Amino acid sequence: MSAVPDLSDLTPPDGVLVVLSTLESAGYEAWAVGGALRDRISGTTFPHRVARSDWDVATDARPEEVIHLFPRTVPLGIEHGTVGVLGEDNTVYETTTFRLDVETDGRHATVEFADNIDDDLARRDFTINAMAWRWKTGEFRDPFGGREDLHAGLLRAVGEPVERFAEDYLRVLRGLRFAGRFDLEIEVETKEALVEATAHLGTLSAERVREELVKILEDPCPSTALDLYTECGALEPWFPELTEMAGDRASWRRHLGTLDGIRPHRAPVRLGRLLVPLAEDADERASAADRLLERLKFSNADRRRVVHLVRSALPFVSPVDSSAHLRTWLSEVRGAWRDLFRLHAGAVRDASDPRATGALVAAWRSVHDEVLDHPPLQVGDLAISGTDVLGLGVPPGPVVGLLLEELLAQVLEDPDRNDPHTLTDEARRLIELGSLAGPRLEDGGDGGG
Ligand code: ATP
Ligand code: MG
Repeated sequence: MSAVPDLSDLTPPDGVLVVLSTLESAGYEAWAVGGALRDRISGTTFPHRVARSDWDVATDARPEEVIHLFPRTVPLGIEHGTVGVLGEDNTVYETTTFRLDVETDGRHATVEFADNIDDDLARRDFTINAMAWRWKTGEFRDPFGGREDLHAGLLRAVGEPVERFAEDYLRVLRGLRFAGRFDLEIEVETKEALVEATAHLGTLSAERVREELVKILEDPCPSTALDLYTECGALEPWFPELTEMAGDRASWRRHLGTLDGIRPHRAPVRLGRLLVPLAEDADERASAADRLLERLKFSNADRRRVVHLVRSALPFVSPVDSSAHLRTWLSEVRGAWRDLFRLHAGAVRDASDPRATGALVAAWRSVHDEVLDHPPLQVGDLAISGTDVLGLGVPPGPVVGLLLEELLAQVLEDPDRNDPHTLTDEARRLIELGSLAGPRLEDGGDGGG
């Protein structure tokens, strides 16, 4: 057994302590396992992602006993022995009964409970994830040398790699994520097995693949894991269009590097950035992005947000653009303008090109100044409404919208025009000209040709 590391600064948050001490006081063993322990031992801090809920607890208490011990619990996966214990601030602490995995089909394991922590650690995927610490006694268990691997910079499967990946192909993606996050070399046999196993990634559910991608995007430097996806053949099954983009490896790497320049808590912006090179044409780009996001079963809200970013990313504004141009851009990109600056900032941060950074900052200032003036940017901001237009004798129908759009274009050019008199006069003039939809205006409402 490896030497006991100095875990003195391993102070679990209060909510975790409540879970650990309650279980121990009732006579059970309670071990901190998994991500939080590994991340702390590695010395890497993840200010954004490693929330308190990431302290997973392993215990010999059976699920029904855990439910009995705590006033508020949620059955997260009783059949897998997992009960969520709700803390005072509603944080969910995952508490899982020691278990053995038996009989798997590469996606789901049939579970049996184990009697001790070592058996439980043996079913875990990588040595760095198979460590445990018992708060009550200070015991540290690391039967597979995870701590040593972590410090030597190695990702190694627990046990026989080929079997371990075949039990659950998600481990391929998890492995690449951890290797990227901690900058680990993948141990030779583990890597061989991992590369072989990528052929089966298509059997995973879209949700699990999506969650993996999102976790990568929430890591400090997603480029490393995504480049490993490329290198190991893990992109192909779920992201064929990205495989195509990755054809020119050097430029793909540069592109991935721009994701690192966007802050980790902006995962949707990073995702948008990742997908921008899908096509030059904005509409094509947007539909390609949407297809990918749909395939991964992203929520409609996420899809809308990311697709809008992907579509609006280019062309971007520059410091020499006129105010009118900037307002037109703001009108088109709507609330996404800040995210679009973040999306582009990733590239300049990575390239650390002072001129590009200067230009971006200058463009930001100009846009920000425009925004501070609260100019009218949408039809709804106009000083006259659709009802007013109807009052001028325009028949109900699409012409009303077209007329308002034309007025908005003029107001974007010159916000001073946004007063009811000017706009009403202009609307009358346009109606008389019949220039909006020519024949339609003359049609009246009778639908005749
Ligand atoms: P993070 O939360 O940062 O993604 P994690 O290691 O905590 O990393 P979780 O999915 O929270 O990942 O799982 C907690 C622990 O459960 C892991 O550390 C690992 O020991 C075990 N585990 C999770 N998923 C698997 C899997 N597919 N195969 C084997 N063990 C797993
Ligand atoms: Mg975790």
